[in-house]
This record gives sequence, C-alpha cells and structure tokens, in this order.
Amino acid sequence: MPNPPPAWSRLIRDVADFPSPGIVFRDIAPLLADPAAFAAMLQALAAPWCGQGIRAVAGIESRGFILGAALARELDAGFVPLRKPGKLPGAVLEEAYALEYGQDRLQVQADALPAGTRVLLVDDVLATGGTLAAAARVLHRQGAQLAGAAVLAELAAFEGRERWPADVPLQSLLLL
Ligand code: AMP
Repeated sequence: MPNPPPAWSRLIRDVADFPSPGIVFRDIAPLLADPAAFAAMLQALAAPWCGQGIRAVAGIESRGFILGAALARELDAGFVPLRKPGKLPGAVLEEAYALEYGQDRLQVQADALPAGTRVLLVDDVLATGGTLAAAARVLHRQGAQLAGAAVLAELAAFEGRERWPADVPLQSLLLL
C-alpha cells in the first residue's frame, strides 16, 4: 500500500458482520459514488496495464463488472463478464471453487473471445483467492491469454495471493 494511502481509499467503508457474523465487508459503494475518487482510483488501477497490449478486461460478478467495464474503457479494451451459473446464454465453460461453506461456480461464454486474446482479470477484493483463481482457470480453458489480474484491495490476513500462479502478475492497489 502506498504511504500515505491514496485519498480515495478513505471512501471504502468497513461494515462489520455483513453479510454474516464475523465478516468485515469492504464496501466500495461510497468510493464509486464520488466522481473524483472513482476517476482517481480507476487511473491507478489502469496505470500498470497501459501499453501492455490488453485487448479485453474480464470482470467477476458483480462488483468486478463495475470496475471491469470502466477499466476496459480506460485501456481501450473490450469487456467480458464472468458470471454465476444460469445467467449467460449459449455454450459456456465453468469452474467451481470453494467457499467457507459449500462451493460456487463461475462461467464464461465459450465464444467470448478469439483464442489467444490478451486479457486482464479484475475484481474488487482478493480474500482467500479462490474466486480469482477459478476465474483464471476458466479464462485459460476458454483460450484467452491471461496477462494478469488487478484488484482494488487485497486482504492480507487471507493470504489469497498464495493461490495465484506465481508467474502471472497480480496487482492490488491496497493491502488491508
Ligand atoms: P475470495 O474468493 O475469498 O478471494 O473472495 C473474493 C470475492 O468475494 C470477491 O468477488 C469479493 O467481492 C468478495 N469478498 C470476499 N471477502 C470480501 C470482503 N471482506 N468484503 C467485500 N467483498 C468480499
């Protein structure tokens, strides 16, 4: 995390015991609602990836859609949604990942991108890393070339980076 932290980081609100007891939810809604803060955060998110030949940004449902679509425009790239089951029409590829209780799945449309397209993966928060790793796997199976991943905040306590392939760049703007 940069020292001092960027001004926009003050607009991420910690909400205790949401969505369940013991969870501290990092709420980015106040940051998104502030035009100057949203713009400054987006520029910081895009900066490491400018000039890297990114052709598409893949965003994880649902806050990854908000960041990903805006980031795609910053990078002059397209956008691809990675969705929960049952939302995408046509042929899809799917990867399962573990949650604290049970499991969830992420899907991408099989024809979302031409093979070899250079893609940047985006989400708001990296916690245990299971979601981001599943997203990387499904993009790989789709045929995309994964340039890296960008997250707004990395929650250090969960060591999610350990589940990310060491040879693929992972940029986080804040270490919380
Ligand atoms: P994980 O798979 O454990 O890395 O969880 C990451 C996914 O869950 C991301 O899509 C986040 O939006 C969401 N998430 C996990 N923990 C939090 C948290 N404390 N605050 C906000 N979102 C979270």
